[in-house]
Amino acid sequence: MQATLTLKPGKDRPLLRRHPWIFAGGVARVQGNPAPGDTVRVVSAEGRFLGWGAFSPASSIRARMWSFDEHAQIDDDWIAARVAAAVGRRADLSFVTDAVRLVFGEGDGLPGVVVDRYGGQLVVQLMSAGAERWRDAIVAGVRAVTGLDDVYERSDAAAREREGLPIREGVICGAAPGAALAVTEHGVRYLVDVPQGHKTGFYIDQRDSRREVARHAAGRAVLNCFSYTGGFSLAALAGGAASVLSIDSSGPALARAAEQQALNGQQSAQCEWREADVFESLKQMVAAGQRFDLIVLDPPKFAPSVHHVDKAARAYKEINLKAMRLLNPGGMLFTFSCSGAIDVDLFQKIVAGAVFDAQVDVQMLRRLQAGEDHPMLMTHPEGEYLKGLLLQRI
Ligand code: SAH
Repeated sequence: MQATLTLKPGKDRPLLRRHPWIFAGGVARVQGNPAPGDTVRVVSAEGRFLGWGAFSPASSIRARMWSFDEHAQIDDDWIAARVAAAVGRRADLSFVTDAVRLVFGEGDGLPGVVVDRYGGQLVVQLMSAGAERWRDAIVAGVRAVTGLDDVYERSDAAAREREGLPIREGVICGAAPGAALAVTEHGVRYLVDVPQGHKTGFYIDQRDSRREVARHAAGRAVLNCFSYTGGFSLAALAGGAASVLSIDSSGPALARAAEQQALNGQQSAQCEWREADVFESLKQMVAAGQRFDLIVLDPPKFAPSVHHVDKAARAYKEINLKAMRLLNPGGMLFTFSCSGAIDVDLFQKIVAGAVFDAQVDVQMLRRLQAGEDHPMLMTHPEGEYLKGLLLQRI
């Protein structure tokens, strides 16, 4: 029997607007005893058909919608078709990079599913009960459409715990990826550590902003805070930066950064990889009267949930205030937040507060966001987790 999830009265409104999540509080009852990840027919309190969703009994997001089409049949072929469509939409990117997010969850109509490609290597990350249920179909689908056979799983995101799923990592098929898979983006070579690196090994989402940094770096003294393995630093060097100081608290990340610098044949004279705390370093550099022409602030997620927003806001403000003080007139600040709980308007307000406190004149040149392989479904603004501002001191 097809399992059915019935919503409480009035709780159908987000679904009628095609928002893909059903929260536990909106569910009146579930009939038919579905297993985690099974497809449920979602109906309103009045019994009206709303869509097909993946049931997730452990999560506060009790179901994630696959389709709003009553005729859709969620099976292996349906999943494979969605995967193929997502991969097909990325074709244009092959001109600039071989590090591409092929499937981006809700943004591609595949909630909880992430597939990245690094050269000939595929990496799969499954973060919902529904994604887990269709694991084989997802892997088969992406292999079929790309023709690639090396597939690695990095289902280790915190989101899995909330879905009641264990962490799972390792080779699904083909060869094991090494710790230094070379990819090329806008002519710069990066080394991706698929088994151990952040996310699935690389911050694919910052591609466009790396390009912007490169475009503005020529002749400038650059400071890259929270550099990790130096993505922005390498882009700045490629763009002809006069000097690059990169700061991160992780020694291994900085060692990897230096390795990539050598790989690109970028001269080391004007380049320093400093293992230090960014908050402390900024304080010291302000006190010492140091100045830079281009600063990148791309910190870790300061607000992992809505409960951390106030504290996170203070941290964002502090680093942005310090960065303003370190900027020469004409200098540029690339400032980011990847906290989903802080939306673009709030982030802009926080940064504006820092500008105000610094008592400097600052222009916003543009907003920055993840690349086009991280599409945001218009009905699911939660998908826009990465936001940035490009500012210039005048
Ligand atoms: N900007 C990077 C990604 C940043 S990930 C890129 O484009 O690839 C966040 C980084 O911040 C991690 O490398 C982590 O080691 C570092 N980090 C976190 N807290 C820090 C702190 N207080 N001081 C310095 N580095 C910190």
